[in-house]
Amino acid sequence: MENRERRIGLLDESSQFIKGVGPARQVLLERLGIRTVEDLISHFPRAYYDRRDLVPVGKLPLGAGATFIATILAISMRRARRGQKIFTVAVGDETGVVNLVFFNQPYLEKYFKQGERVVVSGELALYRDQRQIVSPEYEIIGGELTESLLHAGRIVPVYPLTAGISQRMMRKIVAAAFEKCAGHVRENLSDSLLRSFDVPPREEAFRQAHYPDTYETLERARRRFKIEEVFFLHLLIKERRKNLTRKRQRPPVAAPHPLLERFLAALPFELTGAQKRVLDEIRIDVEKGGLNRLLQGEVGSGKTVVALAATMLALGKGYQAAFMAPTEILALQHHERSRELCEGLGIRMELLIGSTAKADKKRIHEQVNAGEIDLVIGTHALIQEGISFKQLGLAVIDEQHRFGVKQRAKFGQGDMLPHFLVMTATPIPRSLAQTVYGDLDLSIIDELPGGRRIVRTGIVSADGRERIYEELRAAFRAGRQAFFLYPLVEESEGSDFLAATEEFERLQREEFADFPLGLLHGRMSFEEKGKAIGLFRRGEILGLVTTTVIEVGVDIPNASILLVNNPERFGLAQLHQLRGRVGRGGNEGSCYLLLSGEVGAAARARLSFFASNDDGFKIAEEDLRLRGPGEIWGHRQSGYPQFKLINPLSDHDIVQLSWDESERLLERDPGLSHFENRALADYFRESYKPKMELAEIG
Ligand code: ADP
Ligand code: MG
Repeated sequence: MENRERRIGLLDESSQFIKGVGPARQVLLERLGIRTVEDLISHFPRAYYDRRDLVPVGKLPLGAGATFIATILAISMRRARRGQKIFTVAVGDETGVVNLVFFNQPYLEKYFKQGERVVVSGELALYRDQRQIVSPEYEIIGGELTESLLHAGRIVPVYPLTAGISQRMMRKIVAAAFEKCAGHVRENLSDSLLRSFDVPPREEAFRQAHYPDTYETLERARRRFKIEEVFFLHLLIKERRKNLTRKRQRPPVAAPHPLLERFLAALPFELTGAQKRVLDEIRIDVEKGGLNRLLQGEVGSGKTVVALAATMLALGKGYQAAFMAPTEILALQHHERSRELCEGLGIRMELLIGSTAKADKKRIHEQVNAGEIDLVIGTHALIQEGISFKQLGLAVIDEQHRFGVKQRAKFGQGDMLPHFLVMTATPIPRSLAQTVYGDLDLSIIDELPGGRRIVRTGIVSADGRERIYEELRAAFRAGRQAFFLYPLVEESEGSDFLAATEEFERLQREEFADFPLGLLHGRMSFEEKGKAIGLFRRGEILGLVTTTVIEVGVDIPNASILLVNNPERFGLAQLHQLRGRVGRGGNEGSCYLLLSGEVGAAARARLSFFASNDDGFKIAEEDLRLRGPGEIWGHRQSGYPQFKLINPLSDHDIVQLSWDESERLLERDPGLSHFENRALADYFRESYKPKMELAEIG
């Protein structure tokens, strides 16, 4: 689109810029994220009605679905026997009349007005010789014929709306926007990319996305915008990666690695095949001069050990290493574990978290800055003010989805940039990894130490609660331990979800009065949390009432039972992580999903899928399919926007194509300065990047 139109927005200073959009409506549109003409034509329909074949009312087929336009002739409301309210609207055209019949929807009376036109879809039936359609789909489309053509006689767009803007109004506004920019929509792909992607030019694609000629042209238009969503993101990711590493040195780390050898030799176990393979991938990256890797593996697959081994590569060459965890509990746990595993290796190690005493913090800062500490394990505190590593060689970031790209950059200093290893327990299909973590290479640990421990998972309906509690009491008597998991910390107003705190008190008082229970949730202080975990780990508490605070990596080997309350409130990938908490020790783990009464069929099906599957990848894919990527992969946290059209999972071929083409483009024209890429470069720099930067604020 011409710059002028793109920048001015919906309203000119003096007059209405888009027909139908005044200041009041502009405010409403903003709620949909619409600020400019381009936003308006990018407001894609969420669905379409096929209203291409309109049937005259007189020719409506009996017993088969059909669509027609008619005028409202008469309205009547009557009460049938047994108090049922029947609302009848007689509609017709020059060929005939038909009654639309609605039961018990008295509010409809105010929608239908005599003389207005309506599009109707439904099935004609005969009732006492009267032609009627019961509960049809309908849409009132106003009086003018030209406007009607926007709403019928074609494949009709159905838009996402906001309160105060009707479907009809939205169609008119978008149509007006099209009128404004016809012939002005600027192409943002080169001819050769249009050919490689096999998609229509931009303006044509916009038109087909709103007013498709056929479902085939619609699909091609949608494909084009899916590609746009991911292609420019890929360009951005690659540019950022280049900027992050450009003119910055990575600490040289060459073989041999005697410290790593000693670390491995001292481990109380042998690394699994998968761990060894991944450690090799890391070692090769580091030796080649640049580690930027995402280490992915299920909970308990042994990522932490591999990451710690990776730090030996840097520590062995006299560099420092940092290990950053998303929570204080985890940092503490990593620190304790690392101290055990590194005993006798002469590594100077410290824990640095928010609740570290002020004086200690100051000392640790000074020692880190002076190079007197080799390995610091901690939380966000590691990248805060006052800390400036003398020679940071490698940074491990645990559970990336809690951190953004920007935090990673904070580890860099001047012209030095450490090697990066990012760990996540969330299984990420490769196509999605390229979209969300495209600046990282991917390593997967696909094997659990000691083989896979299946956690038996059962769904228990609300009336089975007592039976499960009895089972739990029997397990407690046998010395086993359990988590009671709840979705919320405190009962919030208007929500009927059980709350951990209140349930803890009740369970301890009533059903489990004879057994020691403990409470662990996110709003407790660090000391309180540490105390609860300690008691649980030592077996002084048998049941731990908790929230998702245990989701990320807390390692409590003894607990073998997980009782999930309101399981429908959790995502499947999240449930799978939580289930990983109890598949660890020698005992066989069990997981019970305790339903709380009314749970819909869809939720039940989702939970059944989960109960009968143990493959983290399959579960993540199902979750992704059902809930969309945003929530699961934390696009928001990682700084990338929600996608409008593309689903990286089902559209993985598009993601791959875009990835390959962006690679080829940057190989041939790294600065995007060739003439044929000018439009693309302009769009990328002037339109796409500023928008992305806006989206990433906050
Ligand atoms: P993750 O970080 O992937 O959740 P951890 O590294 O915390 O997994 O490992 C989980 C548990 O398994 C830890 O107690 C760890 O010491 C142990 N472990 C890791 N690797 C092995 C192995 N190869 N053999 C046996 N136990 C292992
Ligand atoms: Mg872990």
